[in-house]
Amino acid sequence: MAPSGGVLPKVELRNVNMQYFGLEGETEALKDISFSVAPGEFIAIIGQSGCGKSTLLSLISGILRPTDGAVLVDGKAVSGPNRKVGYMLQQDYLFEWRTILENAVLGAEIQGADMRKARRRAKELLTRYGLGQFLDYLPRQLSGGMRQRVALARTLCTEPDVVLLDEPFSALDSQTRLALADEITDILRREGKTTILVTHDIGEAISMAARVIVLSRRPGQMKSDHPIAFASYDGRRPTTFEARNAPEFNRYFNTLWQELEVHVEG
Ligand code: ADP
Ligand code: MG
Repeated sequence: MAPSGGVLPKVELRNVNMQYFGLEGETEALKDISFSVAPGEFIAIIGQSGCGKSTLLSLISGILRPTDGAVLVDGKAVSGPNRKVGYMLQQDYLFEWRTILENAVLGAEIQGADMRKARRRAKELLTRYGLGQFLDYLPRQLSGGMRQRVALARTLCTEPDVVLLDEPFSALDSQTRLALADEITDILRREGKTTILVTHDIGEAISMAARVIVLSRRPGQMKSDHPIAFASYDGRRPTTFEARNAPEFNRYFNTLWQELEVHVEG
């Protein structure tokens, strides 16, 4: 149901609890999570390692079902993997024996999509991401940043409305990470995708997203929900580089840092 007068949220979680049941007993991963994401909105969810971030994305993608509560996409309960939702993981999971092009069409192949159309779209995306000369290369011939762009092309090849990013830059060196964060943010914003980025990197969240949700330590609970706005760019959203240098950046950083309760162990 749409909130009165508002648009229907693209993604909505209502009182979601998630417990894992295993041989060693049960693990409470998420507790009473409720939020919604508007169409085209770009949000980040931050929290420390083990607080349930990946679990949250798996619930939205339909790979996992919540123990309690509801996950909705376009107002409908998610009952399994859904082609409206694309999921890009921390590791690129490219198949080493498949060419770049064949890796980029993998999602489409799994969904049983029209492969001629998928190949055409994958070529177009790879070319746009600067990989046009590498279509017949194997993943090991590419750098980490290039591999992550192939993973993005694979995610967007199936034309999802919602893109889930699970710490997509954590395996990269810091320069590549900054440049790729900027490129990917730009691509997703231009394409109007509804995006949920999960990260433990506060700076990444502030510079990429228009809203940041903080999760507590396990079991992950909603601690806060901050709109991120930069006044100095006359309504335009700054690039991730500009955002990092904006006067508001440090203020957001300090607030979020305190809420994350980062402690050095040992
Ligand atoms: P994050 O992505 O924030 O690091 P996860 O969502 O991966 O956190 O995990 C949250 C908690 O759930 C952790 O304590 C983790 O060990 C546990 N967990 C994750 N996946 C499983 C699973 N398949 N079975 C049992 N416990 C799990
Ligand atoms: Mg994780």
